[in-house]
Amino acid sequence: MVGLSKSRIAAFEQCPRRLWLQVHRRDLAEWGEGAEALFVIGNEVGEAACALHPGGIMIEAEPDLAAALETTARLIAEDHPGPLFEATFMHRGVLVRVDVMERLPGGGWHVAEVKSSTASKEYHTGDLATQVWVLQGCGIDVRSAAIRHVNNRFVLQVPGKLDGLLRDADMLGMLGGIIAGRDEVVGKAQAVLAEEEPQTAPGDHCSRPHDCEFAAHCRRGEPLPPEWPVTVLPRGAGAAWLARGYDDLLDVPADRLSGVNAIVHAATVSGTPYHDRGGAAFEMMQWGWPRVWLDFETIAFGVPRWIGTRPHQQIPFQFSLHLEQENGTMAHSEFLSTDGNDPRRACAEALVEQIPAGAAIVAYHAPFERRVLRYLAECFPDLSDALQDMAERCVDLLPVTRKHWYHRDQRGSWSLKKVLPTIASLDYGSLEVKDGGDAQATYLEAIDPATDPDRQLLLREALLAYCERDT
Ligand code: SF4
Repeated sequence: MVGLSKSRIAAFEQCPRRLWLQVHRRDLAEWGEGAEALFVIGNEVGEAACALHPGGIMIEAEPDLAAALETTARLIAEDHPGPLFEATFMHRGVLVRVDVMERLPGGGWHVAEVKSSTASKEYHTGDLATQVWVLQGCGIDVRSAAIRHVNNRFVLQVPGKLDGLLRDADMLGMLGGIIAGRDEVVGKAQAVLAEEEPQTAPGDHCSRPHDCEFAAHCRRGEPLPPEWPVTVLPRGAGAAWLARGYDDLLDVPADRLSGVNAIVHAATVSGTPYHDRGGAAFEMMQWGWPRVWLDFETIAFGVPRWIGTRPHQQIPFQFSLHLEQENGTMAHSEFLSTDGNDPRRACAEALVEQIPAGAAIVAYHAPFERRVLRYLAECFPDLSDALQDMAERCVDLLPVTRKHWYHRDQRGSWSLKKVLPTIASLDYGSLEVKDGGDAQATYLEAIDPATDPDRQLLLREALLAYCERDT
């Protein structure tokens, strides 16, 4: 019998085929962007949960899980006061490692599942129910069970002092129905694993509640989609045409489309990009001179590292800017902090130094750049006027592009990564860092004290090249 775990049961509940592939064909998994950075952040929250209980005991899974099962049973039998971290239990072939178990003064246990999110989510209940089901099956008296999540109001005041970082959302009262059904679910999951790969067809469940890592594998056998699927029509229009039986955009009658859908259709059919040069020029004429083309890269930690920061707060560690004068001359400058120190002050000073007073600041999806500028203004009262002024002078290139440019290779998206290669033969494929998720993972590696200095230089170069490409 193949062993199950709470994450395997969660995979089964999303899709039996996902469970089967996780167990029998893990080599077929393909992880999406940002997975690495999210993993690091999740780990830090787990470590913080342990650090908050200095008297707790970690149950190691070394040399094997049998040892962890034995240690857990012994500590409980010896009435260890706890808390216990990664306490390990097995019931009906399901093995769970409980993030935190605390003895309650009146008897029984409180169990907590640590998550790096800022609230409990519906899909967390399944994991918690599996844990409680296993614990109850092992004769543990569970009196309360919570999702221990990050408190987004927490502000780091003293380095390493994390009291108040995590909060419990008690959910035991909501788990009764799921726990009652666990026997049956586990039986079905075991049966699936004993058979050949299920041929579950891909559908909406492939991204709910999580993107499935086997999408490429499952879609491999499907008939090739049309070169220009109707789903490239934006804002839900594609889905509506699909529901009417059209899957190829080229088959949709042009006279039944209007606005942006007509533009996307015409550019796709003809292969000629839509470019309303006059309309774009008119809108951009309103912007002043000089112009600063600006882009930030930010990092967000589940466990704040720097004084005055909150969990998951977007903190800028890098920017690139191109300064364009009315006569057409262009100069590039940038900022990047990779020493692991709080980058905010140096970033704010570099902005004030590099951006001329009165310049128009052009960003692609400006609400993000505005938010970062306002946040830095709040942090540094002495620079606040200059930074607030920059935020006020921020203009947005995205809606201009959306209204006045479309190339069929954008395939219905106006994200910078899709647009830039179509207007300037500049793509991200040749770069080491290809997207925001890569940039965060690269930054985390660069600030890691264990990173070798030569490697750190390469990482810096990769980050600088990526951010410059954006501006
Ligand atoms: S891609 Fe979809 S069908 Fe395939 S295993 Fe994942 S969830 Fe199941």
